[in-house]
Amino acid sequence: MPGNHVLAEPEYSYLNPMPTTDKINLLDFNRAALERFFVSNGEKPFRARQLMQWVHQRGITEFAQMTDMSKSLRGFLAVHCCIERPRILTQQRAVDGTRKWLLSFDDSDNAIECVLIPEKSRMTLCVSSQLGCTLNCSFCSTAKQGFNRNLSTAEIIAQLHLAHHSLIAEGYPQGVTNVVMMGMGEPLLNFDAVIAAVDMMCDDFGYALSKRRVTISTAGVVPAMEKLEQVTDVALAVSLHAPNDKLRNQLVPINRKYPIRELLRACRGYIEGYKSRKITFEYVMLDGINDSLEHARQLVALIGDIPCKLNLIPFNPYPHAIYQCSEAEVIDRFRDYTASKGIVTVTRRARGDDIDAACGQLVGAFHDRSRRSEKYQLSLSEIQGVPIAHS
Ligand code: SAH
Repeated sequence: MPGNHVLAEPEYSYLNPMPTTDKINLLDFNRAALERFFVSNGEKPFRARQLMQWVHQRGITEFAQMTDMSKSLRGFLAVHCCIERPRILTQQRAVDGTRKWLLSFDDSDNAIECVLIPEKSRMTLCVSSQLGCTLNCSFCSTAKQGFNRNLSTAEIIAQLHLAHHSLIAEGYPQGVTNVVMMGMGEPLLNFDAVIAAVDMMCDDFGYALSKRRVTISTAGVVPAMEKLEQVTDVALAVSLHAPNDKLRNQLVPINRKYPIRELLRACRGYIEGYKSRKITFEYVMLDGINDSLEHARQLVALIGDIPCKLNLIPFNPYPHAIYQCSEAEVIDRFRDYTASKGIVTVTRRARGDDIDAACGQLVGAFHDRSRRSEKYQLSLSEIQGVPIAHS
């Protein structure tokens, strides 16, 4: 924040702009933060609502066009602030209409992926929360890329801004109707930024999505799940993937820190006292690993008494993956069993797999600071004779 709170005429013009990097990106601010920003600059709090409507609802990013604000305020904003949108590095479209964007937010090579999944009655956006991921789940290709950093609130909400206004421009007046935080990264390890972005998704002056249409998905960061309940009531999805600790320790290593018992206690805590809340359990179907009837029985014993929905996700392959997807009949048998025990079970259809846009196929492009990708390439070259990729 500039120390001087007086709204001055701009010293800079469009021909002589201040360097973007020094400006405050207003996409970083939810309504409460925007109100504080305006008040500390001598403006009324309602300016926050006006700004949000321009930016999020009308897709306007130039302050000069925000005609219900005074000229001096627009000038002040143009000098000190920006609405910084990502650069689109690539845009792909799958045969089923699924779209994938590779987006960069700075002038480095870092990029994340974001996927739009059109269905008959809804447009679901799959949003990333981190550049890479630290959790290293054994079946996920994002894990193999290692980790670079958390995304900022602006970088998270900008994915929705881009997809929503692209859709509107193409003649889909509703834009994005559902958001799932199921792209790259573990949203609950980037808690504050994700919550601020989710605020904007649900805000009446932002995207006005109902809380049931915004889903945070977690591999099971238990302390953050406990905190979550106090700050938001969006839908919660939990990547379970295994019905016992021995197997889950292998598939989802964070289980060694927060075992199933603690995870399910946090799940119960999230829905306790809320009639309409349900947990969605996600379960990736891995051939010969977690897909037997015995696994299904154990699963029912674990989650049978929790108000929940079970999503079976056919494993999506990627180069050098060590797993294969379960046979269709095996998935059906698993589904029939859990459904027969009263658990609403849905098999998720793979979408956009011809452009590597399906679950667990998002890799983006970034410099790995955990050196996990290097170790992974090395182990591949040792085990399978695969040449080491150089970036
Ligand atoms: N970190 C969060 C959100 C990102 S993953 C989480 O773990 O929930 C979104 C979902 O895709 C998770 O359920 C994840 O386990 C699943 N997934 C990851 N790799 C996959 C793959 N190769 N095939 C199918 N689903 C996968």
